[in-house]
Amino acid sequence: MPDPIVGLHHVTAIASDPQRNLDFYTELLGLRLVKRTINFDDPGTYHFYFGDDAGSPGTLLTFFPWPHATRGSAGVGETSATSFSVPESSLDYWEKRLLDASIPVEKAPERFGKRVLAFADTDGTKIELIGNAAGAAAKPPRHSEVPAEHAIHGFSGVTLCEAGFELTANVLEKMGYKQSGSEGNRFRFTSTAPTGALANYVDVLVQTQLTYGRIGAGSVHHIAFRAPDDAAQLAWREELKAMHLNITPVLDRTYFHSIYFREPGGVLFEIATDPPGFTYDEPLELLGEALKLPPWLEGRRNVIENLVEPITLHYQKAL
Ligand code: ZN
Repeated sequence: MPDPIVGLHHVTAIASDPQRNLDFYTELLGLRLVKRTINFDDPGTYHFYFGDDAGSPGTLLTFFPWPHATRGSAGVGETSATSFSVPESSLDYWEKRLLDASIPVEKAPERFGKRVLAFADTDGTKIELIGNAAGAAAKPPRHSEVPAEHAIHGFSGVTLCEAGFELTANVLEKMGYKQSGSEGNRFRFTSTAPTGALANYVDVLVQTQLTYGRIGAGSVHHIAFRAPDDAAQLAWREELKAMHLNITPVLDRTYFHSIYFREPGGVLFEIATDPPGFTYDEPLELLGEALKLPPWLEGRRNVIENLVEPITLHYQKAL
């Protein structure tokens, strides 16, 4: 049996306007654009990766911005909220920052003893800030307007909206998660890996009255869990195959290697390797500043650069 999964690697969602998406996450939330590339399965679309300064696994929220995408509709079988961890003492700072930017903020009831600020990005993607961590982020983004002591640390976890939880629980438990609590119709699964790392829980929110969601702008496309290396990923592929899940072969995503499968509740899961990481094709100091293409698309760079909309990374101009 491979070691338990330690937590999330990344979350990938769908946006509409690329510039608006870029501004929301780099300027307002103060994350770093750690990779500017394209959707390898749809090279006319950007793929933005936002994270901490180094693009560490467990901090990465990524987007496919489709300029003409219509809004998705929320429902079961999808990730309904992505939560980031911030210092408890920074929640008042964040509430004011969001309200000053005219972003409505909902102070959700405490969840498992933690304060929650809930809001949506400009496409309706549901984001939460959880007052969790103490101290500053390990690698706060270098160009951020957000002072390091208030910086987002990375993910806290995700909420999956489902019609039931037992079948999903079987898969999560296989992956090394254990049910650690419940509040009403929310069931929490926490990784049994010893690190106590960021991004180590998944909540399943059971909503029997909802129908299946329709994917579109504002929807989460998939969530990815961490594998420390290729060998662990292959071991997980065998374990999950034995549960009669349909799993893709290993796909080369340049910055990590990936396998995908749909868990029984309907959410697309990925297992992504930590290596090689985002400094694979550009130095740490320059992450995100140029459009990077995988080697097999480099020959079509001119075509691709004309297909994607021009964007401005505002902090880059000030360098
Ligand atoms: Zn992914």
